[in-house]
Amino acid sequence: MLVALYKNQFVDMVGDSTKEEWVAKNKEGGLLCPVCQSKVIPKCGMKKTWHFAHRSYEECAGFHEAETNYHMLGKKGLYKWLIALSEEPIVEFYLRDIAQRPDLFLSKHNHAIEFQCASISQDQLRSRIQGYQSLNIQSDWIFGLKRLTHKGNFLHLIQSTDLSAAKKDNAGNLFLHYYCPLQDQFVLLRNILPLSQRKSAAISYRFSSKNFNYFQEVSQTYNEEEFLHYKNLWLKQKTTWRMTAFKNTSPSVMYFKKVLYFNHRSLTLFPPLAGVPSNGYYHFETSPYLWQTYLLFMIEKLSVSLFSINFIEQEFERLLQKRILQVRDFPYINESWKNAMRGYLHFLERHKFIEQVTDQTWKKLRDIHYPKTVEEAFKLDEIFSEKS
Ligand SMILES: [Zn+2]
Repeated sequence: MLVALYKNQFVDMVGDSTKEEWVAKNKEGGLLCPVCQSKVIPKCGMKKTWHFAHRSYEECAGFHEAETNYHMLGKKGLYKWLIALSEEPIVEFYLRDIAQRPDLFLSKHNHAIEFQCASISQDQLRSRIQGYQSLNIQSDWIFGLKRLTHKGNFLHLIQSTDLSAAKKDNAGNLFLHYYCPLQDQFVLLRNILPLSQRKSAAISYRFSSKNFNYFQEVSQTYNEEEFLHYKNLWLKQKTTWRMTAFKNTSPSVMYFKKVLYFNHRSLTLFPPLAGVPSNGYYHFETSPYLWQTYLLFMIEKLSVSLFSINFIEQEFERLLQKRILQVRDFPYINESWKNAMRGYLHFLERHKFIEQVTDQTWKKLRDIHYPKTVEEAFKLDEIFSEKS
């Protein structure tokens, strides 16, 4: 922690106080934790960022564990960056009503900024975001760059909690922010398209903290030309799905394989119209080729050409309850898997497979084509990828 109480005043380790001054303060009146009021010790060594340490973390509601140096260094770096932007950040501001202590708080904007390095579950993330929302406080997560793995050519491995904190930019594309305290650099991930549970296509932009103005950049749209590079990544992913379906034994793959098998279809030869990044598809964590193939299959099996959206929603709800379909949680985005489903229906409409009749009713226009061989499937995938 970087903040303590000294004679009922807040003092912090982000300023210019010397080691001697801290030692004197410690001897004189003692330094206390602002949350639990227990004694803390100033640590002014050579290796780690100067900080205050509890004697024991067990009793404190605000600081559950010792912070890593990477985290403290980042908090300090972000503090200095905000000062340079003429903001008035408060370090470790304790919000007693919700027992939350954002790393940085901008009271002028009523805005909390978390620099996340330690592991955190998606449920914890959601409840902390909701905590801020309950006080009408805006919040943003900046993740430690250590958490991100760059795989080259627009490919990144993103932790599922980090992805969960994504927001949408003005064009509706997902974005995330990372910060490296060692280089004092921001990495902005823009136009994020999840390919699998951890793998995502994304464009990364690097900024030195001197050239990065958060409040101007935050939801700005970037050049979308790079989306062209995504086509190849996506096509490659589709090939992987086809090549691995037969040996994949996950419960959801097994389920859809079985359903198709009993109807004389093979998952390997799923329709080229499935497995596409339609609007909001990422609300399902289950691969798009699976749920989209199944949706096409449901429409194909209809004995009449008209169908209601409820018919699909109810079946998807059943599969969600059975955990055959899995969803992603995005606390900042006010949407659900139903948006993914509708996004795909509109995609199918653009490809003249179905058409919308009323708000709730759709009509099938033609039969769906299944490739007969793997070679044909690859060829159709390629043609389809060129067209879209
Ligand atoms: Zn404490």
